[in-house]
Amino acid sequence: QPKIGKLVLIGAGNVGSAVLNSLMQLNVVNEIVVIDYNKDKALGEVLDASHTTAFVYSSNVVVRVGDYSDCADAQIIIMTAGPSIKPGDKRDRMVLLDKNVTVMCETMEKITSYTREAIIINVSNPLDILTYVAQTKFDYPKEKLFGTGTLLDTARFNRMIADICHVDAKNVTGFVLGEHGTTSFVPWNTVNIVGVPFEEFKTQFSLTENINKEKILNDIKEAGMDILQLKGYTSSGIALSVCRLVDAIIHNEHCVLPVSILLNGQYGIHDVSLSLPCVITSGGIERVLELPLDENGKKDLQICVDKLKNIIKDLNL
Ligand code: NAD
Repeated sequence: QPKIGKLVLIGAGNVGSAVLNSLMQLNVVNEIVVIDYNKDKALGEVLDASHTTAFVYSSNVVVRVGDYSDCADAQIIIMTAGPSIKPGDKRDRMVLLDKNVTVMCETMEKITSYTREAIIINVSNPLDILTYVAQTKFDYPKEKLFGTGTLLDTARFNRMIADICHVDAKNVTGFVLGEHGTTSFVPWNTVNIVGVPFEEFKTQFSLTENINKEKILNDIKEAGMDILQLKGYTSSGIALSVCRLVDAIIHNEHCVLPVSILLNGQYGIHDVSLSLPCVITSGGIERVLELPLDENGKKDLQICVDKLKNIIKDLNL
């Protein structure tokens, strides 16, 4: 039986450590177990994070190093293991494919020898391919395993639109969907600010020029790589994306967030993982929503599906 509030964090690198620190501040889980094959790194992060609990405004989260047997009664497992792109590398998450498919398979073998009940959130890249591998090769319950997908891209999108229109980013309803990568897309016909449709932004928000859709989408696609070039890695945005999902699971929120899931017939598509807006509950994915895509959206989705399916085919799973 999963222990409510027990979370296992796999990978204590740049992303894992940021997730750890953000989760401790979020104060919604009571036990965080860290696993990394670099045991010194895991212990270092754990000690450092655990000392913060002595401060008045910190919660008393138990944080410790563990091993895969800790997955047996975990409520949530976060997968951040495996290398990231380094500054100067090709700006494409697919360069991580071979290495991280191996890491994902090793990790899933160990996890599934202990549990099929925990909700697993994959963060490692290439996000949609690794989520697909974890989901299909290990036959994990499909509602209980998903990837952060375009949640981070969507946060970036909402921030950019908010800055242009001078409103709170939380008032922007708009999604980046598809691949967490080069074929992500925005279904522009569904973008709005508290109900004001995208076509009316210019007049309603007194913009002096038209919003350049191509530039925005391109900036979102490049954002991760730009940050990586500038500071060496990305961490804050992805850490808060994970926190958002953990909060939604713990509180059984039924909130709608875009995450990467295995499609089983949405838009007539099967057998590929990519992001669509999903209802997130304590049981995982309760429902996948099909936004009304216009012709452009349908075309963009197909490009994304074709790309991901080709990569999956070449993996020979
Ligand atoms: P990193 O190199 O700093 O850390 C990776 C960690 O994984 C290291 O501590 C390493 O020891 C550990 N590790 C490697 N293989 C392992 C295994 N088999 N078992 C246990 N631990 C293992 O990398 P990072 O910057 O923390 O990035 C981690 C992953 O997250 C990468 O795949 C990266 O591309 C991805 N990422 C995803 C997003 C997103 O939006 N989804 C954002 C940023 C990074």
